[in-house]
Amino acid sequence: MLKFPSPYDKILPDQIKTEKTPEYNRDNNICNQIIGSLVGLAIGDALGASVEFRPQQYLAANPVSKMQGGGTWGLDAGKWTDDTSMALCLASSLIAENGFNPYNQMVRYKWWHKHGYFSSTGHCFDIGKATRQSIVEFTLRQEILKIPYRCRNEYEVDTLTLDSIERIKDFNMYCSEEDSAGNGALMRLCPVPLFYFKTPDIAVEYAGRSALLTHSDKKAVDACRYYAALIIGALNGYDKDELLHKDFYKKNKHWFGNESIHEDIILVAEGSFKKKGGYEQGIRGKGYVVNSLEAALWAFWSDGNSFEKGALATVNLGDDTDTTAAIYGQLAGAYYGYKKIPKEWLDKLYARELIVCMGEWLHFQGSQRGLVDFLQYSITSPSILTETSRSQEQKQNQQTASAATASAEPNKSKDANVNNKSNNMSYSKQLSNSIHSNDLESDFDGVSSFMSSNDQDTYTRKTHTYGFYRNNSKN
Ligand SMILES: [Mg+2]
Repeated sequence: MLKFPSPYDKILPDQIKTEKTPEYNRDNNICNQIIGSLVGLAIGDALGASVEFRPQQYLAANPVSKMQGGGTWGLDAGKWTDDTSMALCLASSLIAENGFNPYNQMVRYKWWHKHGYFSSTGHCFDIGKATRQSIVEFTLRQEILKIPYRCRNEYEVDTLTLDSIERIKDFNMYCSEEDSAGNGALMRLCPVPLFYFKTPDIAVEYAGRSALLTHSDKKAVDACRYYAALIIGALNGYDKDELLHKDFYKKNKHWFGNESIHEDIILVAEGSFKKKGGYEQGIRGKGYVVNSLEAALWAFWSDGNSFEKGALATVNLGDDTDTTAAIYGQLAGAYYGYKKIPKEWLDKLYARELIVCMGEWLHFQGSQRGLVDFLQYSITSPSILTETSRSQEQKQNQQTASAATASAEPNKSKDANVNNKSNNMSYSKQLSNSIHSNDLESDFDGVSSFMSSNDQDTYTRKTHTYGFYRNNSKN
């Protein structure tokens, strides 16, 4: 089993011990594509890091043509930024948890923000506004868990099981403000479809949920669902014409639970990116998720089947260079495969061995999944995205008053509960008030109503290791 370090040990990614997967009936082509996608993300990130925030006019005069260091963050050539750090947090969660655990994903994002987990420098030196807001909010909300489970410190609350978390009715891990339509979820997306490559509908659903943790706007969620579907298509042998066909979404709508996606994402999917003039015709490498999605697809569509050409084209659009290239790299890497990424770039990529290793484990564990996964998922996990999109449409149509009324209604099910609590920025304040009140029974009835005090002791200690290894030399 591949194990990841504790965030408290401050082990840099290139010092993490890699581990071979057990022997299995490996499809080398798909494995090459899965590694290509994860490495492609990191390569794009590293390629654009030195010129992040530079406008297109600067890059037109000083185009990037190689893996270079310095610039915006002063990183060594090949080192990467928040895009890859968050993607590795997500990938490590899927591997360590052997599945989709949104609480654990948020915990790992918090570790990155707070302890530099999976950072190429050992600390978080760049973070998007919506992501920061969600992580800060999540940290505040974790206080609600400490009392019923008698957690004495961060480690104990961070390592509670998802089952324990879901027993607390008043805890919601989806912490995004409303209208968060940046590209911060799309930039880290690919571990989800890479892990669930055998079950496209589950991959698409979880891609949306993974976005919803930090970016609640339907455009950000649906950009991730659509992009996950493209990555799944690439892994399942679709050629480029099929992937970029204007009817790709319609033909594969069953992967989306037959739910519609936001009209702005449909416009992209139907071909708004097919502009030969690129920047001159409005393609932009901006942080708005619709711009990013369009730019990445424009590069993929016009790269002449060259990863190198497409990645450089995204960087040289300027602005959010690293992220646009990281988004491109996820799909292009999945389509072309690891072996088509330029060797001189791979040689410079920071912690490449670890990223390749994590790609192999995503494939190994993803290969073991299938029918059982599908059955379990179908029975236990109805979509929260459907509820979210309905809620957003309702809000658009009926003004905010009706949405506020809906969120105040008693929760009727676990997933409705998640939805009703999402996007509520007064939540941490309510939570803080409730913690300091004496009315714990009503605030924590998710636990107190079914647990005896002895049970609560048991649950307090029923934590797991999250695939940690401790670096004894540092303890
Ligand atoms: Mg970045």
